[in-house]
Order: sequence, then C-alpha cells, then structure tokens
Amino acid sequence: MSFEAVIGLEVHAQLATKTKLFCGCPTRFGDAPNTHVCPVCFGLPGALPMPNREAVAMAIATGLALGCTIRRRSVFARKSYFYPDLAKGYQITQFELPIDEAGQLPVEVEGQTKVAGITRIHLEEDAAKNLHGVGDETLVDFNRAGVPLIEIVGEPDLRSGAEAEAYLRALREVLVFLGVSDGNLEEGSFRCDANVSLRPVGSAAFGTRVELKNINSFRFVRKALEFEIARQEALLAAGGEVASETRTWVEGQGRTVAMRAKEESQDYRYFPDPDLPPLVVDDAWVEEIRRTLPELPEAVRARWVSRGLTEADAKVLSAHPALVAYFDAAVGGGSAKATANFIQSEVLGHVVLRGLQARFPVPPEHLRALLALVAEGTINRKIAKEVFAKMRETSEPPDVIVEREGLAQLSDEGAIEAAVRQVLTEHPSQVEQFRSGKTAVLGYLVGQVMKATRGQANPRLVNEILRRLLRAS
Ligand code: ADP
Ligand code: MG
Ligand code: ZN
Repeated sequence: MSFEAVIGLEVHAQLATKTKLFCGCPTRFGDAPNTHVCPVCFGLPGALPMPNREAVAMAIATGLALGCTIRRRSVFARKSYFYPDLAKGYQITQFELPIDEAGQLPVEVEGQTKVAGITRIHLEEDAAKNLHGVGDETLVDFNRAGVPLIEIVGEPDLRSGAEAEAYLRALREVLVFLGVSDGNLEEGSFRCDANVSLRPVGSAAFGTRVELKNINSFRFVRKALEFEIARQEALLAAGGEVASETRTWVEGQGRTVAMRAKEESQDYRYFPDPDLPPLVVDDAWVEEIRRTLPELPEAVRARWVSRGLTEADAKVLSAHPALVAYFDAAVGGGSAKATANFIQSEVLGHVVLRGLQARFPVPPEHLRALLALVAEGTINRKIAKEVFAKMRETSEPPDVIVEREGLAQLSDEGAIEAAVRQVLTEHPSQVEQFRSGKTAVLGYLVGQVMKATRGQANPRLVNEILRRLLRAS
C-alpha cells in the first residue's frame, strides 16, 4: 500500500510592538533579565491586563493580508497549565473565538502555485524564559512574559516537506513585509510546530498525527518532516500504529525523538478570561487597516517585472521590505534594469539586514544621482563603480566627487582623437595586425586608449574614432 503525507503547520510569530500584550513593559530583546517586568507580567494577584491596541492592529493586518474574515468580537481565554515559565498558571490566548478565521496563503512549490488554507489566527501572550545551567540552577527571565504573539494555524493542506518549507517561507515573507514580525527563526521570534500524519493514497480520512517541535530553521522543517514521514511509513507498512504524540527534531542525530503523549484541548481547561471583556473592533478601524496595508512582495515583483526586470532580479531585490523601498527610491524615473544591475553588483554586498532593520552604504537618492550621471553620459559605468566606492567612504553625493576628482567622462572628440593617434603610433604591430584582418585586436587598442585617458573616455566615441582612423591611411 502506498501512503500520502498530510501536513499542517502551527506558526507562532512574535509581534514587533514596542510594548507587551497586556501591560506597558517594553518588549525589547537582549536586556538584563527581569528588567522589563511588572505585576501583570508576573501575574500577581489583583494585577489587571489591558490589551495593546498596536498588537490588535497587527493581528488584523495579518488576517487581512491572508484573506481572513476579521471577527468583530473575539474572546481572550485562559489556557491552564503548570510550568516554571508561567507564573500565573495560565496563558492568555484566544480559543473558540479567535480574531481572524478562514484565510489563504499562496505558496510557490517548484514553479507551481498552490493555495494553502489558513484555519485561524489568534493573539496570545508569550511565556517567560527558563535559563538553565546558571551555576547549578535554573532561573527564570520574565522579560519575555507577556510579549505579544500571533499563532497562525494552517489547514492540513500540505503534502510534503518541500511544501511545508515553501509555506513557511511564504508566510514569513508576508509577516515581514507587513512589518508585524521580524521573522527570525534562529532567535525564536518565528517558531513552527509541524503536524504530520499518513493515510493510504485515495483515502479521505486522516490518520493519527504526530506533532513535531523544536524546528528552528527552514531546512530543518523539511528534514524533520521527511524523516517523520519515512518513520511513520515504515511503522504502518509493518502493520503497526502511529502513536499520537509530540516529538522533537534532534538535528545532531538527524531524527525525531518522542517527547510526550499529545495533550488534548480539554487538558487545558480553557475558559474566557474574566479579567478581559470581549475584544471588539469596529468596521471603520478594520477598513482603515485594510487601506493602509503595505504592498506585499508578490505585487512588488509584478510591478517591477512590468518595468523591465526579470523574475530573478525581482526576486533578489524583494527579499526584504527595506530593500524594496531602497530600490523604488533609487530607480525613480530611471532605468529599472540598470538600477537593478548596479544594486546587485555593487550595493548588496554592503547592505546589513537585521530583523526588520536595514543599513545601506549610501542613501538611495545618491545612488539615483550616480545612475543619472551614467545615463546622461557624464561618467561611464566603470567610473561609476569607482565613484560609488568613494561615496561609501565619504558619504558625499556623486557629483561632488566627480567634480573634485575630475572624473567626468571625456566626450571631447578632439581630445579623444589625440589620445587615439598617440596609441596608434605607439602600437604599430597591433595596427598592422588589424589591417591584415585580425580585427579582434581592436579590443586591445580600445583598452589602451581607455588607459591613456584614465578610464574617462566615452567608450562609444573611442570605438568610433579608432575604427575611423584604422580604416583611413
Ligand atoms: P493542537 O493545538 O492540539 O495542536 P490545533 O487544532 O491548534 O491543535 O492544530 C492543529 C494543526 O494540526 C493544524 O495546523 C492542522 O492543519 C494540523 N492537523 C490536524 N489534523 C491533522 C492530521 N491528521 N494530520 C496532519 N496535520 C493535522
Ligand atoms: Mg499543536
Ligand atoms: Zn509588565
């Protein structure tokens, strides 16, 4: 019997708000432990949570971008469990009535677009963080407690590890472009649990699923699923059964390992949080968020391709929203293709991307001015690269550098002709070769003229004049 894999992902994304979900403490990462804390973070008796409007707006924006229905009245619930990183004994989340429902995510797999369903998106708070091995002890850092998350629950629409990886990449891209999350898998601001089961090909019913945790890279999600599919297949083929359990991916061993039996929702005793009234959002707010949604990467790429970029260029340059803004500002009314080429060959290597932040070597207006100098023939492309290197050092606009260093292209025909004559006099044997039919030597002579003019001669004129003088006499 042959089997088909059924996969659904649950993704937790940390929202890029300034403050926590139910109190005013900062969400900033990396500060000294327990410095961003208050009675709400610890869940001290009597402390009252207050929802963060910015976090709610981000959850709505995500829902809209993924084509979800936005629930005008959603409910915060308590999910009870015991763990040292959860001082109050419950996590505030949304259960029966989440803020977003029933959306779609287009996923590109091997050149084909597949639309995967989104079941729901809900808001919830993060737990604190256990710090193991501090001396002999485990200590708890509450800076993370109460940081806002959205959980995006996907329909079991994916059929392979490759599809799951593509889904995860597409989802991350949407969140980063919306500016709602920095999508950092390694730092844990974007986390994924993968659910996977097998069923006989042709069967409509689902098999027993296993939940995979601890997947903190795009590559691991694929590897973990591929391992798990093979493991379940071997079990089923041998007449065995898959246990409903939670397993963890151990990268060092290249396999999944059982952690615990899968918990059921009744284990958590969910109930509406009596401290929080239902979350009500009005149509006007939802419409305002819809109107101000940023352009998503797919739309950016279509726009650029219509301006003459290849799909490949468009893909590279839309890898980050800051890069998109940079490209658009740099191109202005100029040539999209020339701008794309220059950015890819000269600029990208000096761009520093960190989360949602980006640092560029020169402002886009300066790059635009540089490319305009090339377009109008003031400097050639080779000199443009030199000017760009100086711009990175001095932060000056290109015209200032070109002026000061006397780099403007030599377009004075008389001056170029003089340089050409000089080169011809100095290279009689190459001239002879050219005249005997070895026209390939022209490139060498062009190079000599460019060298004599310190790279500044207009290459088109050099070519024309050289050919003219070689044919004459
Ligand atoms: P829980 O929180 O218990 O994991 P959820 O309903 O929140 O339950 O998550 C279910 C996730 O598991 C969804 O992403 C869904 O697509 C996926 N899923 C559900 N049933 C199956 C199945 N039989 N095989 C694979 N994935 C499944
Ligand atoms: Mg789960
Ligand atoms: Zn707090």
